[in-house]
Amino acid sequence: MERKRFLNSAGMLAAYAVFSYTEFNHKFFTRLFPPGNKKKIVNLSGTHLPFLSNSSQAIFPTYLNRTITVKLKGHDVKVHALCTGTVAVKKNFFTKHGIGEFAKINILLDQYYTDYLPIWVWVIEHPDGLIVIDTGESTSIMDIDKYLKNESAFLRYQLRHACKFHVYQRDELNYQLNKISLKVEDVNLVILTHLHLDHTDGLKFFKNKEVIIGDYECNHPTNNMPSTMPVWFKPNKVNYRNNRIAVFDQAYSITESEDLLYIATPGHTHGHSSVVLKTDHFDIIFAGDTSYNQAQVITGELAGVNADYEKSTQTYQKILQYASLNKTIYLPSHDIRSGERLFNKEFLV
Ligand SMILES: [Zn+2]
Repeated sequence: MERKRFLNSAGMLAAYAVFSYTEFNHKFFTRLFPPGNKKKIVNLSGTHLPFLSNSSQAIFPTYLNRTITVKLKGHDVKVHALCTGTVAVKKNFFTKHGIGEFAKINILLDQYYTDYLPIWVWVIEHPDGLIVIDTGESTSIMDIDKYLKNESAFLRYQLRHACKFHVYQRDELNYQLNKISLKVEDVNLVILTHLHLDHTDGLKFFKNKEVIIGDYECNHPTNNMPSTMPVWFKPNKVNYRNNRIAVFDQAYSITESEDLLYIATPGHTHGHSSVVLKTDHFDIIFAGDTSYNQAQVITGELAGVNADYEKSTQTYQKILQYASLNKTIYLPSHDIRSGERLFNKEFLV
């Protein structure tokens, strides 16, 4: 245990050293070679893509929105998968490479990005009201310097060297809801899995709406950008109760009928939660960033970005155990196949 703590501390120290070194390099070389003649890349909506770093041929895939109808106590209920833009992350961000906290240094050192992945938002036309799970991304992220101007240099550096976003205005949640004949004004409840900006930037549409989030996540967020949260943001902080659900045990029941449960799935952040919809025939786990895709849970592959790798492993095991007891569709927020799996009702095990 002591050895592990030492390794973790050494890893964090080394990550800081690499950051300082690369930041110094960046400043030094920028001064020597000012960015004046840098080739600018413009997307179709005319917004500069500020950090298309390793490819001027970036491809922005389109992920189809999907809708299915499920039964809740005999009633037809529609569930929608809406894609609110895409994000590419460093490959070492997506997959952990390196021992303990050293894996985080490898994110900064990595030059390679994944393909552009979807940023899913889930919508449930529940009999109790229209429910949105996470709020997706918005076009403000496209001008990252302006968007994060009130954040520390360290946080800006981290984001700039880990992720590249691509969001058209038509990807934002208000447009996406209109496409399925719904309006942001109709939403009764917003559920957040955690406080990372690609899950909270769409909050701008939900002033005066009820927003819920786990008490611990709200009070102890990990790697979030506080200045990007709306000034009016005062969510209802919820706590889990015992004996509510198999395997996970603790849950907060969102609906009176207990068919929608908020469960602890820590790892990605310390207070990360997922949402379980218990339909008459199967369950759906809206998993946030518990893993980046379904294969990671099956194979045990961890993401490089992770508040607690051990907790992530335990969460994976619980999800697999739960899915072996209950037919479960597992839907992470950035899985390229989440929409397809929902549509085809593909179960985790
Ligand atoms: Zn996240």
